[in-house]
Amino acid sequence: MSEPTSPDQAPAAEDLDPERMIAEQFRRSRAHLGHIAPGLVDFLRLPRRTIGVNLPIEMDDGSIQSFAGYRVLHSRVLGPGKGGIRYHPGVDLAEVTALAALMSWKSALLRLPFGGAKGGVTCDPKQLSQGEQRRITRRYIAELGDNIGPFTDVPAPDLYTDAQTMAWIFDTYDRMHPGENNLPVVTGKPLELGGSEGRGEATGRGCVYCIERFLALDGLPGLNELAGARVAVQGFGEVGGVAARLLQEKGAHVIAVSDSRGGILAENGDDLDLAAVTTHRAEAGTVVGMPGSRSITNADLLALPCDILLPAALGGQIHSGNAHQVRAQLIVEGANRPVTPAADDILSALGVLVLPDILANAGGVTVSYYEWVQNIEHHSWPLEEINGRLRARLFNATDRVVSRWRSLPGNCPDATLCTDLRTAALVEALDRLAKVTLQRGIWP
Ligand code: NAD
Repeated sequence: MSEPTSPDQAPAAEDLDPERMIAEQFRRSRAHLGHIAPGLVDFLRLPRRTIGVNLPIEMDDGSIQSFAGYRVLHSRVLGPGKGGIRYHPGVDLAEVTALAALMSWKSALLRLPFGGAKGGVTCDPKQLSQGEQRRITRRYIAELGDNIGPFTDVPAPDLYTDAQTMAWIFDTYDRMHPGENNLPVVTGKPLELGGSEGRGEATGRGCVYCIERFLALDGLPGLNELAGARVAVQGFGEVGGVAARLLQEKGAHVIAVSDSRGGILAENGDDLDLAAVTTHRAEAGTVVGMPGSRSITNADLLALPCDILLPAALGGQIHSGNAHQVRAQLIVEGANRPVTPAADDILSALGVLVLPDILANAGGVTVSYYEWVQNIEHHSWPLEEINGRLRARLFNATDRVVSRWRSLPGNCPDATLCTDLRTAALVEALDRLAKVTLQRGIWP
């Protein structure tokens, strides 16, 4: 499937097929993995297991409808599979497979004891009642059977699934495995049902930690700290909204934000009042029209002159048709795959750096890992402890990506700009996966 994209679509010539986009990113990193045998590289690229299920569901009006469900386990080299479950009309095997690979790399980069996985059901949640969604979830989990489990494959929320969906997943699995501690079978659960403090804010908070560390490491010449940095944020949801608030708390100027209906720019050209934006959005259903702001389009937002651009909405937003308009110095991928491979090339040539998704938005899976550990230990950690651990882990991952980036051979005329940060992050992740695969030995 293609993840939903904005009205400012990439030109038809650009291939936005998720599997091929991920394959292209993988291909670029392969050039730096010459020490890994080609057969092993293929093993790291291909999914280990794909499952498709047909779910017959009794609808509220008494009719029966069939829904297609998928679960792809990309890798189990580092531990049980880990990855979200999405409900969306466009879900198909190609999308789920691509996202599962991304999860393997993210977990490896963050040094989490997980492999990568992803799942989904092709349905339109906006057209489904809560009861229908619950029946789809229970049947889907029942069909997956022991292919998920606390130590085999651990789902989490994704597009149009939430803590309630995770509660149904836990309950279904728990009924299938009575008498065991089944809480770690799924993360992103409600707090009362074994969820973790800090999970809701973790991805946005993680973005901010990555930026903070990257600037402190002199990643962006002339900008060493967030105080005073000018930031534009696309998407004012769980990731973008939280990141915007935390960036402002650290002294950055959030000059523009947007949602699916459009964007707003601070009238004084300086800082938006984000508390007022949140209140306005709660009342009007959109950030657009907030008093004291000027309306702009999402396309305008992506082209604003600023230090940091944070796309935190959908995939494929910065593509070959608009990448040359970007006037930020640094793009931070809050969303998954917001920058296409063709755009990566254009941005590289322009000297615009991209902090890649597998690093920048890894805060969510990191706190999911903390939830899993707390569930296994029958324990719950306070918020300060979660945030402290998250910060340390993201700082460490950012340090390794930057040092890998600086050590890879440059391919740009400017010596400060070597191979892009995405490739460096992938090389760091794949190197670890290859090492561990060989340490374990190829079975049998
Ligand atoms: P969300 O639903 O809370 O927020 C999404 C925001 O994007 C909303 O403000 C929505 O109005 C806006 N949006 C939708 N279409 C848009 C468009 N065409 N142009 C501009 N804005 C648009 O979702 P979220 O949890 O914040 O996730 C955002 C992205 O981050 C997704 O791509 C998701 O896959 C990715 N992500 C999320 C997490 C997480 O923990 N939430 C973790 C990793 C990656």
